Amino acid sequence: MRASRWRAPIDALDPAGRAELLTEVEAVLDGRIRDLTLTKRLEALYHSSTWHERAKRIRSWLIWVAILNTPIFAIDVLQNPRIFEVSLLSHFIFLPVIYGSLCWAMTRFRSQKAESLILPVAAVSLMLMSGVLGYTGEGAIPERYLSGGLFVLATGLVIFPVRLVSTISAAVLAIGIYGAFCLRNPAMDPVIRATMAVFYGAILGCLIPARRSMNILHRHSFMLRLEDLLKADRLTEMNTRLAVLAGTDDLTGLANRRAIRGRLVDAWAEAAQRDGRLGVALLDIDHFKRFNDTAGHDAGDRCLIAVAEAIRQAMPAQAVVGRFGGEEFIAVLRDATPESLLVLGEVIRCAVSDLGMPHPGLEGRQVVSVSVGIALATPDDSTNWPDNLVKHADIALYRAKANGRNRVVAAWDAQAAISAPARQMA
Ligand code: GH3
Ligand code: MG
Ligand code: MG
Repeated sequence: MRASRWRAPIDALDPAGRAELLTEVEAVLDGRIRDLTLTKRLEALYHSSTWHERAKRIRSWLIWVAILNTPIFAIDVLQNPRIFEVSLLSHFIFLPVIYGSLCWAMTRFRSQKAESLILPVAAVSLMLMSGVLGYTGEGAIPERYLSGGLFVLATGLVIFPVRLVSTISAAVLAIGIYGAFCLRNPAMDPVIRATMAVFYGAILGCLIPARRSMNILHRHSFMLRLEDLLKADRLTEMNTRLAVLAGTDDLTGLANRRAIRGRLVDAWAEAAQRDGRLGVALLDIDHFKRFNDTAGHDAGDRCLIAVAEAIRQAMPAQAVVGRFGGEEFIAVLRDATPESLLVLGEVIRCAVSDLGMPHPGLEGRQVVSVSVGIALATPDDSTNWPDNLVKHADIALYRAKANGRNRVVAAWDAQAAISAPARQMA
């Protein structure tokens, strides 16, 4: 049973649906194995997930019986040349056509109802063929052929992994046909006829509990595998959630310092491979201590959340942003050029000041702003490993602060203020 065949219906469920299914499976597995009863949904899942494997077994039986049936033609003719034509028809046309059609039907119709019909139809056609062949041969031949048919069918009852109702129907129909043909056999003593019918009925009857046990064990092993699969899925989901949580800043929801450093290292390696440039923008909220001191720490937290959201929304597709610590943020820009990096810095700066959030610690109507330091590196520049790049951006940020805040300064041009402040800062 390949797990990939099970995946589709499980993948279609959301995590809550999978958790619910796991609870259902665990409830079924909680009881004794011999009392195992699947819910309607689990039975349908069992049927669809194990269908390939079970259909293969059924088809093999049908094909083998049809093939092994053909050499009996020679035995028929040796026993009684009178049955030559009937034997030819039965062994080479009747049974191969019926069993071939059943094989085809198995690939065409996958419903449980269609599957339940296969064994009874196979049993009836086998017993009818045995009966007709036997009665054409007369004498002791009818009983021999009917017993042979029942024996072959017995293997089918054991091998067919189908519902019990299908197994019972096939057994009852086969014994019924056996009895009907025996009744018509004048060469057979009535008591012996009845004894033989009861005897064969008992043998087939014994196979039914065996089939039931196998059905239960097969379903039980399916439930265990389903449970494993669902638990493995849950573990993967939890690990993914944990990894996301471990890399997320819980206040702002941005990548935290550890995660953003990982992204920076990855972006650096990727840039090295593609010979691209990598840019970094380091930004820091201006006079944030005063904000906290005046409005309180909770208001400071709300300000951080609003600034983080504004920066996140301003990010272009090829950039990622994270909280670098405290009131500092960092953006990493792939395929950066000096121009695109300057634009990014300016976009971030404007996004924050456009929030228009009054700064309670500053005089006048000044709003919360950020200063931005940008730095650019090419992979062939061996001095600019990721940490160095951040260091250069930090120096530029320091210059932006020193030059009056609320501005963007480039590391390669750290003396010049790239953008004029929107308002004069204190
Ligand atoms: P500058 O313009 O030079 O950056 O001045 P600043 O006041 O912003 O810088 P400073 O480093 O002096 O102060 C940073 C403040 O940020 C101090 C600290 O209380 C505050 N801070 C850091 N993390 C948090 C946080 O998670 N929540 C809040 N509310 N405040 C924080
Ligand atoms: Mg700071
Ligand atoms: Mg600051």
